[in-house]
Amino acid sequence: MSRSLYGWMKRRRMPRIDALTRRQLLERSAAGAAALLLSGCGFLGRADSRGGRRIVVVGGGFAGLVAAHELRAAGYAVTLVEARSRTGGRVLTFGDFVPGRVIEGGGELIGSNHPHWIAWAERFGLEFLDIVEPEEAEFPIVLRGERLAADAVDALYEEMDAALSQLNALAEPIDADAPWRSADARALDLRSTADWVAELAVSELCKAGIRAQLEADNGAPLERQSLLANLAQVKGGGLDRYWTDSEVWRCKGGNQQLATALQQAFTAAGGTLRLGARVQRIDQTGAAVRVTLTDGTALDCEDVVLATPPTTWDAIEFAPALPPELAPQLGVNTKYLMHVKGRFWEAAGLAADGLTDGPIGWTWDATHGQAGDGPACLTAFSGARGAETVRGWPVAERDARFRAEYARLFPDVDAQFVAARFMDWPSDPLTRGGYSIPAPGQITTCGPQLRSGHGRLHFAGEHCSHAFVGYMEGALESGAAVAKRIAVKDGVAQG
Ligand SMILES: Cc1cc2nc3c(=O)[nH]c(=O)nc-3n(C[C@H](O)[C@H](O)[C@H](O)COP(=O)(O)OP(=O)(O)OC[C@H]3O[C@@H](n4cnc5c(N)ncnc54)[C@H](O)[C@@H]3O)c2cc1C
Repeated sequence: MSRSLYGWMKRRRMPRIDALTRRQLLERSAAGAAALLLSGCGFLGRADSRGGRRIVVVGGGFAGLVAAHELRAAGYAVTLVEARSRTGGRVLTFGDFVPGRVIEGGGELIGSNHPHWIAWAERFGLEFLDIVEPEEAEFPIVLRGERLAADAVDALYEEMDAALSQLNALAEPIDADAPWRSADARALDLRSTADWVAELAVSELCKAGIRAQLEADNGAPLERQSLLANLAQVKGGGLDRYWTDSEVWRCKGGNQQLATALQQAFTAAGGTLRLGARVQRIDQTGAAVRVTLTDGTALDCEDVVLATPPTTWDAIEFAPALPPELAPQLGVNTKYLMHVKGRFWEAAGLAADGLTDGPIGWTWDATHGQAGDGPACLTAFSGARGAETVRGWPVAERDARFRAEYARLFPDVDAQFVAARFMDWPSDPLTRGGYSIPAPGQITTCGPQLRSGHGRLHFAGEHCSHAFVGYMEGALESGAAVAKRIAVKDGVAQG
């Protein structure tokens, strides 16, 4: 996810939340989410009650880690199978890129409206770093080829505020947890967000601003975004809070710490972790399931949780086969991490948060909140068409092309460049995309199937959480939810 244009314009105009209010909000959210977790209900004491029922969880990203942790806590014999040599999936923290700095190569920003993240942070003693918008600096914005002056940014904010309030009103009656149950669900799902934008009585600049924001955020052209999917996200994030609160923290020391903590808690509780183990086949026969790895190892169990991105499912043979329409869309997102000598934008009176509707999309200071004046990282986050463009640049020209695009926002960038790392997640065979955004029609066709599962095959992953689709929060929520559904099915937990 990227920084939100409207979000930061709006937050800048809001009174600051003081530390006490934020602490109270944190405690309330953590208490609420703890109740959603099986491991928050004393299940560890019932570890033998399942009579050795076995579950294989495929995929050790946040969703698979939580599912494995929670099912183990409920007493199941759980094996977590992960193809990489590490857990975390699309969460990958670098401590070796910019000296003395922690940089996120994948999932980065956390919301104060993300209750599962908050609950786990509380459980494992992780801290959040506040993201604070500079009060005086200019936010560099280039839309439709022109750099906006301050009064144009103000006018854009007023128009976007009115337009997105209409989206909030449409989202109000939506069932964010199961949006296919909402009134007029099918019609809203078949409508694209582009259709909604086209009917807005706003300027072309405002439409370009909304398009730039939602396409970079969700990684797909507006024509390929279900309006119902956007409404469920907005409702899930708390309507107006969706815009202001979804990207306000980073995890101090890096998000990877949560993967490590979940992994350690799972194995300490007796769970089995198989790293470097890629699943090739999943065969269901009656009451049993066999999971076969690429090295031929067979793992027999009663239930399987598939917590891998849908874009990778075609590398697994399923018997019985998955329904062909069960193919949730992932958007296309990349990050270009640019190591620079220092926070040079400050001297120029600029904020690091920039936006273009060209190839690089958003920029931000990935070292924001990390103390000291040392080196920094100016990240460029691209989505949809922008991401396809930067992925197409020849490797030998990539750094120069990126610098030319950055220069449209930050004229002094050339002299500051030290090194770069390009995070091309769509080219990674274990991801093959950025993160999910349902295409028109997909909430009502795929949503109920992702929830009900496919026989003894159950689904988890950010694509299963419509209220927080695409976010780390969605992955965490889906892992807890699938564990609970299995435990309820088996009579271990109450529905
Ligand atoms: C560029 C980018 C920026 C992002 N920014 C943010 C952000 O700021 N805030 C936010 O909340 N979210 C962000 N996200 C999204 C967030 O990272 C994801 O939503 C979340 O991490 C997904 O978790 P997951 O467990 O569903 O899937 P994954 O993390 O993808 O985990 C799936 C796991 O399955 C494994 N796997 C795949 N196939 C197999 C197989 N056959 N056998 C065994 N294992 C297999 C993979 O190796 C992987 O570890 C971003 C993502 C990207 C790509």
